[in-house]
Amino acid sequence: MSDTTGGAGRRSYAGRSITVTFEAGRCRHAAECGRGLPEVFDTARRPWIRPDAADAGRVAEVVGRCPSGALRYEGVHGEEEPGRPSS
Ligand code: SF4
Repeated sequence: MSDTTGGAGRRSYAGRSITVTFEAGRCRHAAECGRGLPEVFDTARRPWIRPDAADAGRVAEVVGRCPSGALRYEGVHGEEEPGRPSS
């Protein structure tokens, strides 16, 4: 499968409540991310990470399970984010 990183650098996927970063060169394809939150992490899709597709706390939890350190997150904001969809 091809990737869109253009190298081994770390890419950012900014969401409203959390920003997820991914370094393709570190990924071991353990699929912990896709198993944990398939609505957020889906390698068949572009972009393959959609930080807003689940609660930021859940995204952070699944990112924390990544065994290689390829996934990281930054900037978890509160739930009171204005304009946040309720569905
Ligand atoms: S959990 Fe980490 S190592 Fe596993 S597929 Fe996802 S990004 Fe890659």
